[in-house]
Formats: sequence, structure tokens, C-alpha cells
Amino acid sequence: MGKEMNYGEDYKSIPATSISSGMGISVLPDLYCHTIQIVNIHLVGDPETGDFVLVDAGMPDSADEIISVIEERFGKESRPKAIILTHGHFDHVGSIIELINHYNIPVYAHELELPFLTGVKRYPEPDSTVEGGMVAKMSKMFPNEPINLGNNVEMLPADGSIPHMPGFKWIHTPGHTPGHVSLFREMDGALIVGDAFVTVKQDELYKVITQKQEINGPPRYLTTDWHAAKESVKKLAALRPQAAVTGHGLPMTGETLSESLDKLVRDFDKIAVPDHGKYIN
Ligand SMILES: [Zn+2]
Ligand SMILES: [Zn+2]
Repeated sequence: MGKEMNYGEDYKSIPATSISSGMGISVLPDLYCHTIQIVNIHLVGDPETGDFVLVDAGMPDSADEIISVIEERFGKESRPKAIILTHGHFDHVGSIIELINHYNIPVYAHELELPFLTGVKRYPEPDSTVEGGMVAKMSKMFPNEPINLGNNVEMLPADGSIPHMPGFKWIHTPGHTPGHVSLFREMDGALIVGDAFVTVKQDELYKVITQKQEINGPPRYLTTDWHAAKESVKKLAALRPQAAVTGHGLPMTGETLSESLDKLVRDFDKIAVPDHGKYIN
């Protein structure tokens, strides 16, 4: 595999954290969710078979932590078959280059996300003026220059399947980013949401630290297309998921999930969309 990879020039570690940081939850026997500071990574696959993938790649400087989480669950020397990205924001690709170098495995993302992962395009600047407190304000310091994974990143198959994730289909859920995807398994209603919606008010530092469970739209400071974001939430709600793991916040299941999703669809403009900000039109 090519080694010509680099992070953006403004790449750096971010000193934000939450009480869930360093903790993991087995949401299903083959779905494990671990929190790195303020963002979640997911391990999908049965520890018995050792066949698994990593979904998203954590914060900057977290490769060692991710590798030890993997070895704890799947055994020493175990290796994911691939990394699947819900999208390319810095907190979801923060340690991906170290992980690619360590495991020598392919990365898959949606076609429309590839320019942001190959150094071609940068995401719009985070909107730190959006109401919602400290994290939104901190977003000014978030790395925004595009990462370049060269030919280590590939397009997800057009038929909706996901390499090494049998039973799962990817669903295009744009709005937060153009090529954002969520991953759904119809058999048991398992949903890996990414940031299409989250279960914590990600823009309020206190709620991020305490991880108070509360459904919300995608993180405000980085979401640029609110119409698409709303359609994406509707699309996911219509699947009637039974268990949802999100990029930020704790997993949500059963009735709490269906009631919260119904509420988010019904009141999206009130709950999710900021009253002001540069991406409101
Ligand atoms: Zn994001
Ligand atoms: Zn995120």
C-alpha cells in the first residue's frame, strides 16, 4: 500500500474530554462502542470469530489506545479487516494514518467524502458563532485542513454493501458532510449513525463532559446543510432502528430510541437547527 499519507497542516491534539472517555460498551455481542475523549469508535464483528472491522478512527494521538482496545477485545495480534469511515471530520480520522501503517488495511468511505480524505477539498470552516456554548467556541481550534490518505482510501461499493460487514448496508446521510454515511443492519435493527444525529448536546461542553443522554441533530458547528441533515434524520427514523450508536454520546436503544427519533423528526427545526449561524439559510 502507498505510504504517501499526511494529516493537514493544522493537525493537533485537542484537550477535550468526557466522563465516558476510555470506556467501552458492548451494545450487541458483535457491536462494541468505545469512547476516545469526546468521540466514539466502533468495533463490528464477533470476538469468537476474530473477523471484524473498525468504524471511524478517533481523535488525534489515540492510535495506541485504539490498538489496545482492539487487542483487549479480539486478542493480541488481532487485526481489523478494514476501517469504514462514516465521514472525514478530524475527530473521526484523528489516528487513521498510524492505524493504516500499523495494520496495513484498506479504508472505505463514500464517494463524495473522498475529496476530503485525499487532500483535494477542505471542509468549510467550523461555525464557532453558532449558539451552544464552549464546544462550538472551541471548534475554532479544530483541525480543518484536509487529510491525505492517498490510495489507501477506497469508495464504498455502489450496491450499498460494506466490505467485511456482512448484513450491513451503508445509507447516504448527507447534511453534516456531503458524503456522510450511516450503517444499518436490517436483521436486528442495529444502526451505526456517525454524526447524522447524536445522543448528546455536542456543542455544550458541560453536556459533553457528563454525556447526559439527549437526542440531537448533527453537531451544529460543523453542519453545513440543514435541509439535507433533516432529510437524513427522517431516512434513519423510517428504518425503525432498535439500537443506535452515534459518533458522540452514549448508545441509545429500544423505546427511548424510537421516541427520541420521532421527536427529533417532528421538532427538527427547533431541536437541531441553530437560530443563527453562517450555514442557516
Ligand atoms: Zn462530524
Ligand atoms: Zn464527530
